[in-house]
Amino acid sequence: FAKSEGGNKFCFFSTAMNLHAHEKLKMENQLYEAIEKQELQLYYQIQVDNLYQPLGAEALVRWLHPERGQVPPMQFIPLAEESGLILSIGYWVLDTACAQLKAWQNATLTRDLILAVNVSPKQFCQNDFISQVRDVVQRHAINPALLKLEITESLMLINIEAVIATMTSLKALGVQFSLDDFGTGYSCLQYLKRLPLDQLKIDYSFVRDIATDSSDKAIISTIIAMAQNLNLDVIAEGVETEEQRSFLINKGCTHFQGYLLGKPIPIDQFEELVKQLNVTEVGADGGEWLP
Ligand code: C2E
Ligand code: MG
Ligand code: MG
Ligand code: MG
Repeated sequence: FAKSEGGNKFCFFSTAMNLHAHEKLKMENQLYEAIEKQELQLYYQIQVDNLYQPLGAEALVRWLHPERGQVPPMQFIPLAEESGLILSIGYWVLDTACAQLKAWQNATLTRDLILAVNVSPKQFCQNDFISQVRDVVQRHAINPALLKLEITESLMLINIEAVIATMTSLKALGVQFSLDDFGTGYSCLQYLKRLPLDQLKIDYSFVRDIATDSSDKAIISTIIAMAQNLNLDVIAEGVETEEQRSFLINKGCTHFQGYLLGKPIPIDQFEELVKQLNVTEVGADGGEWLP
């Protein structure tokens, strides 16, 4: 009896797994075609300074699936990582972001906007990642200082010396680095000192509970103070309320991103938002703009 039960269980389980695998394979195939079919899009989420002036944006990929509608990145980036598709997606994102930087450069905006691009660990660890970035920057003839690569602490688990070497070469090209989701992964302060970073990005999870959680307050204060001492910029992600923003400002945070400032939006809407903020900047009272 036990044996047959075991057999049934096995059957049931393996069918479920096959179904799951089948779904996954289907999604993977569709994702494989997504670039060619032009189903991927970049959305832009504004980053501002303490006076609400636009500094630039983070580019966030979106997949407009023919049947499922908009698939959030958390549902397909891990799949893309696993299957290796992240390499072509990542390259598409980089290329599209640089084309956008070029368009802004040609439009001679009131100020240069930076564009932050997420780089996955697999993408970063490709043998030719440095030359990919160099080629894209040269092909679009953009100012590399306006391209900011967002990496995560998970990279540190791979091979710290190789990571430092690649970052150093990329820094020599002129691009910037931000350490995304800071504080949620493997943070070794020893490495933090050695990485040629420009910015720390305080993770959303610390910002979220500022109002209620005193340890999050303490952690954020410490991250900001540490960034200042290490001569790094610091940006807070996931800023949703005025209360969070003023706490962060009081602690010395200088850059802000989150729904309070704007959700990730398509390029036309983003450019409209920047225009509005710039118009207000040179407005009649000539002073600071408040929402
Ligand atoms: P991330 O890089 O940490 O991006 C920030 C995420 O927080 C974005 O989610 C953004 O929409 C969301 N967010 C921003 N402000 C707020 C806020 O005030 N409240 C809340 N609740 N959320 C906020 P999104 O666009 O769904 O992206 C999720 C993650 O997917 C990203 O996290 C990043 O790790 C990954 N991702 C997105 N685009 C790319 C890409 O082009 N390449 C790679 N490798 N990963 C990407
Ligand atoms: Mg990011
Ligand atoms: Mg982040
Ligand atoms: Mg995050």
